[in-house]
Amino acid sequence: MDLKEQLKLTYLFITHNIAVAYYISDRVAIMYAGKIVEMGDVDEIFKKPMHPYTQLLLKSVPTIGRKELEPPTGEVPSLVNPPPGCRFHPRCPYAMSVCKEREPQLIRVNNRQVACWLYQQQ
Ligand code: SF4
Repeated sequence: MDLKEQLKLTYLFITHNIAVAYYISDRVAIMYAGKIVEMGDVDEIFKKPMHPYTQLLLKSVPTIGRKELEPPTGEVPSLVNPPPGCRFHPRCPYAMSVCKEREPQLIRVNNRQVACWLYQQQ
């Protein structure tokens, strides 16, 4: 963070630790199985995640005062042979038939980008 301030640097920081990403980032891109599913201002996404994977990811972060963690259930898909349609559909609590057939594109929704059929015309 000191180097970023002193040298006016821009970092691309890749991590599996979403809590660390929150503290060092201005913008964040959430990836699932090799695809960006949500991208935008870090405060907005952490306060109101839109993509179901982002929502489950944030419920799995330990915080003071919360005992119950809800990590996503199921297995991460094979990247060699990913599921058709939305790659998250086998684990998504909101999956619809279109999710199994067609891949949602990353579209702008308000001030961010989201790839999910819940937010676009089918
Ligand atoms: S496109 Fe469908 S399966 Fe994928 S995250 Fe959205 S609702 Fe869930």
